[in-house]
Amino acid sequence: MMFNPQSSESSLPTSRDTLLSTLETLPDALFVVDDATTIVYANASAQTMLGTTQEALVGNSFWCLAPHLVSTTLYQAVLKARQTRKLTDVDYRSPVTQTWFHAQISPTGVGLAVLFQENTEPTQCQDALRQSEQRYRDLLEHSAERVAMLTPEGLILEISQRPLTDAQVQLEEVIGKPLTAVPWWSSVPHAQRQLGAAIEQARQGETVRFEARIYPHPERYIDLALTLTPQCAANQQVEYLICTGFDITRYKHVEVELRTVLDTVPQFVWIRRPDGSIAYCNRRSHDYAHEMAEQPPEDEWFQHLPPTDRLCIQGMWHTAPRTDITSDEAASLQFVHPEDRERVLALQRQALETGEPYEFEYRLRERQPGAYRWFLSRGVPLRNEERQVVQWVDTCTDIQRQKQTEDALHQSQERVNHLMNSSVIGIFFAEGDVVVEGNNTFLRMTGYNRDELCRRCINWGSFTLPTSKPSLFQQAHQELVVQQDTTPFEAELVCKDGSRLDVLMGGVAFHGEVLQGIGFVLDNSARKELEQRKDHFLGMVSHELKTPLTSLKLQTQLLRKQLGKQGIDNADPVLSRMEAQLNMVTRLVGELLDLSKIQAGTLEYAQETVNLDDVLQEVVEIVQQMQTTHTIVVHRAASPPLLVGDKDRLEQMLLNLISNAIKYSPGANTIEVDIKTSEKAVTLSVHDQGIGIPQEQREKIFERFYRAVAPHQRAFPGLGMGLYIVAEIVKYHGGSITMESEMGKGSTFQVTLPLKRT
Ligand code: ADP
Repeated sequence: MMFNPQSSESSLPTSRDTLLSTLETLPDALFVVDDATTIVYANASAQTMLGTTQEALVGNSFWCLAPHLVSTTLYQAVLKARQTRKLTDVDYRSPVTQTWFHAQISPTGVGLAVLFQENTEPTQCQDALRQSEQRYRDLLEHSAERVAMLTPEGLILEISQRPLTDAQVQLEEVIGKPLTAVPWWSSVPHAQRQLGAAIEQARQGETVRFEARIYPHPERYIDLALTLTPQCAANQQVEYLICTGFDITRYKHVEVELRTVLDTVPQFVWIRRPDGSIAYCNRRSHDYAHEMAEQPPEDEWFQHLPPTDRLCIQGMWHTAPRTDITSDEAASLQFVHPEDRERVLALQRQALETGEPYEFEYRLRERQPGAYRWFLSRGVPLRNEERQVVQWVDTCTDIQRQKQTEDALHQSQERVNHLMNSSVIGIFFAEGDVVVEGNNTFLRMTGYNRDELCRRCINWGSFTLPTSKPSLFQQAHQELVVQQDTTPFEAELVCKDGSRLDVLMGGVAFHGEVLQGIGFVLDNSARKELEQRKDHFLGMVSHELKTPLTSLKLQTQLLRKQLGKQGIDNADPVLSRMEAQLNMVTRLVGELLDLSKIQAGTLEYAQETVNLDDVLQEVVEIVQQMQTTHTIVVHRAASPPLLVGDKDRLEQMLLNLISNAIKYSPGANTIEVDIKTSEKAVTLSVHDQGIGIPQEQREKIFERFYRAVAPHQRAFPGLGMGLYIVAEIVKYHGGSITMESEMGKGSTFQVTLPLKRT
């Protein structure tokens, strides 16, 4: 299409040729362009100025072919003329040639006629303009940043020096060209597409920010943070775009280093964009997603979600820019425990909406089907200067171990609570002497209240009566200090009101700065009462039995005499057996009576000088009269073992020990008894070659009514009273009793008693 200015034709009756030759002779460059700024005519001066021909110009974009003339100011003036359809003129300096131009833009029938005059003699006003333009140019040239003015379509109107230096290109090579087509961008298709999309968006009036890696030079890349800002005219039309690129290569390096570090951490780490999509994920999350994606899905839940939910899920993590992850693999919520999914989704969404940091725990699938591990998910938003969220940094830490420990702790806490709430056992915690905590049962037993407990008014030393001897509590305390626990012991607890309570107590200690311990108190009063009743009953029974037994014995003696008088001798063995049985029962009843007296603390002891040798002699004689199976071998003391005490009781002690020795050594035929005296004490040993006593029974055999239960022991008759009485008699005389035994070989009981002081 050739230039055909209709208006000129109608007003000036000159021929087209005349007109054209006139235009051709114009000293100033004249371009006629259509509405798309495509050149439809350029006069000779214009051709000379651009160093090209009419043919090369016509049909091409003015902005692209006339880099010497292009500037943002001119572009704005052209837009204005096109909109107002009025003659518009403008002074500006060519960014390429630095030449000042005065441009006149007049609307024509086909578009615009643009006339350029080189402007060398500025007016005062133009001078000011020049200065301002100069500053603007200086700014563009010396700015460290990359700045370009673009048409809304993305053609470069002006550009700062920095990107030109980057790419080693001249200004005129890029002016008027689409920014996407210049080497920085054209060599990276992905970045080129990104920029194209951003320009399209900015053209709609939106400020667009994005990051891109460009290659201004094949060997060199720059990471840029780009902003495309649309500039609008008064009518809200986008006039041109300002494109700024901020060099973030160094930051990116740091980021790469950081990611390298993040790849080594055991947590899942990922960075998300404000919309929730993943911008980065570390090696651990990547590996996990991959591993899990290979597993067959456990349920169809994910596939049945609405598409928006699925997108949200896919954005959660793993859609990282590691090229080998597909978005399907990244559908990570399907790895979340079914019971946690809804909650996780809701919390994720809430965080994205509110921009608040989040933290929650959830379970993720493991390799083995049906197995899950607990994770702690945390997200922190990163904000820009305008407080907008620009990124989310999310981490996910394996807390399975912690959870297990917590669960175990919880369970043990529960158990402790159950124990504490037990109405059977009183429990208290003490620090040093002070009771700092206690359950209701403990309070009920002692009569204190919780307030007193809180005020730390309860001192566990006050549970015991002040006595001259170290109390059981003090002994227990000592045991706690030494061995961290105390064997349960029976005690009388002094309650707040002074009343006494029979209890069974035990405790464990753990050392802090002060000794801390837990005490257990069991109300023993019912058992004690029962025991007392039983003791009372035994006392009564043995007392009641004693009288008829004595009478029976007398009657037997009487009978023996009368039968003797009548000359009936053959009844003798029967009477002897009767007497032997009566003696045995009498001894048993006597022991029972002693036992109840010991319990009641009423057993009486005589105080006389006793020669233990003599006592032993008597006992051996009695025993040998009754027992002929064993020979009792006695090793006497060098000096007479004189002591102060009760002769009968000491006799009873010896009788019990020797009888036991005989009883529990059925296969043997000797019993050895040794008496040795030292300066202060006499030691008496009774040694048998009998069945022996198992290790675990050695503590117990001195307890009241204790009888060994092993089958080979049960065969021996007895009531478990003998050794208890022996121990009591020894205790009364200020002595001690020990025992050594070897199974199947025999036992030795050793009694040490203090000698009489002379
Ligand atoms: P009893 O003999 O009536 O059962 P004791 O109090 O005299 O009761 O003894 C308690 C337990 O100690 C006995 O049941 C027995 O198992 C064990 N015992 C005592 N003396 C001996 C011994 N010389 N040899 C083996 N076991 C013994």
